[in-house]
Amino acid sequence: MRRMPYRKLMIDLHTHTDRSDGTASPAQLVREAQTLGLEALGITDHDTLEGYDTAAPLAAEAGLELICGIELSTRPEKPADGSRPPSVHLLGYFLQEPAAPQFREWIRGHQESRRERNRKLIAKLNSLGVEITLEEVQVLGKHLTGRPHFAKILLKKGYVKTNQEAFDRYLADNASASVERDEPELVEGVRKIREGGGMPSLAHPVRLPQRDRASLEKLLVQLIDNGLQAIEVYHSEHAPEDTALYRELAAQFNLIETGGTDYHGDNKPAIHLGTGKGNNVQTPYGLLENMRRGVAAVAAR
Ligand code: AMP
Ligand code: ZN
Ligand code: FE
Ligand code: FE
Repeated sequence: MRRMPYRKLMIDLHTHTDRSDGTASPAQLVREAQTLGLEALGITDHDTLEGYDTAAPLAAEAGLELICGIELSTRPEKPADGSRPPSVHLLGYFLQEPAAPQFREWIRGHQESRRERNRKLIAKLNSLGVEITLEEVQVLGKHLTGRPHFAKILLKKGYVKTNQEAFDRYLADNASASVERDEPELVEGVRKIREGGGMPSLAHPVRLPQRDRASLEKLLVQLIDNGLQAIEVYHSEHAPEDTALYRELAAQFNLIETGGTDYHGDNKPAIHLGTGKGNNVQTPYGLLENMRRGVAAVAAR
């Protein structure tokens, strides 16, 4: 087969709407993508497909290619010292019918564990003398309430001076009000995305505690055994040397490369749709074509 050179059209396959913790509604995000001239847009909200579902008819009308995605928070294996490891984010692309109904059912259970966590978080904050109610937080997180919404209320009420202080003092995994959420295991997440007809990709590997090549290789081997197909090579938090390393690992393990900005609208104002932080991410349409080819090759095997 003749290899087509990468077309220069730009895409963004990692974005969040206000159905999770972004600020743009699905309609606004579609419009922003169109204004920017993006050739394809992937919506990857945390733990929900609602943003994608709402955007799909609007994108179709606008002639914008929309990719169905999700970003799952998962729990890796506990380290030997028994400490609580930070969540690992997994992207799932091309989730589709007919396998998706079971997947949707599964993420609904996952959302319930978040609501449970939010109730406990309110109780813990109250016990620390912070006067805050679930209703107040839910007004901000209309669709899916998360810790960033808690941070906004803490800031508004003057308990902290910055968003980061809200996390450092109260909300971070090791902070005073921290509540452990019942997240699916990392390998279970990989398997569920595959069973849902999707392509699992290890999100922004730069945030993993595994920073050296040997421990990354070890993790990748284990995840590939469970069905991992891709790795997010391009991301607005990746320095050029990170990107270079993840490209090498993708080639070494025959993983499909994915990428995107992780656009969150005004919640992360430094990250711009389509271009990342100071133009540090620009993914061409060919990346999406490669992803499709990679998935098709596996299906044909
Ligand atoms: P949640 O999904 O409700 O647990 O919230 C997770 C989000 O909170 C992440 O996507 C970050 O935006 C934010 N977050 C979590 N931990 C921290 C932290 N230590 N510092 C700043 N932001 C954080
Ligand atoms: Zn997010
Ligand atoms: Fe993430
Ligand atoms: Fe993200």
